[in-house]
Amino acid sequence: MPSLTNTDIDRFRERLSKRREELRWLIHDALIASKRQDYIELAGSVHDAGEESVAELLVDMSLTKLDREVDELRDVEAALTRIANEVYGRCVSCGDDIDRERLDAYPTAKRCLTCQTKYETDKRGGRDATPSL
Ligand SMILES: [Zn+2]
Repeated sequence: MPSLTNTDIDRFRERLSKRREELRWLIHDALIASKRQDYIELAGSVHDAGEESVAELLVDMSLTKLDREVDELRDVEAALTRIANEVYGRCVSCGDDIDRERLDAYPTAKRCLTCQTKYETDKRGGRDATPSL
């Protein structure tokens, strides 16, 4: 992570952890509010997950109302994993550093702007190949 200092990384980790906590509570409360037994059981796992990813548990359920939160949680968890693996701030496609400004605006960014733009164009073109849930 050449362009980010340890202090930067700590700051991003803190910011992302805080957001993960917020999202987990939000999802937890919504699951409880559903009054469905299976969702309520799931709520316990969401709350007690610690460093484990819970977004994967949730994507298989059709929690339409929570789609946005689950998507964001997945991004936040992935970003925290990249911090743990010491690859945070590096584009997953080309390996270049992601602009600092971009990370400040989108701490979960995993691609540089060039690759992200290309990725989104490709995704639109190849929608049939990669069904998105
Ligand atoms: Zn790139």
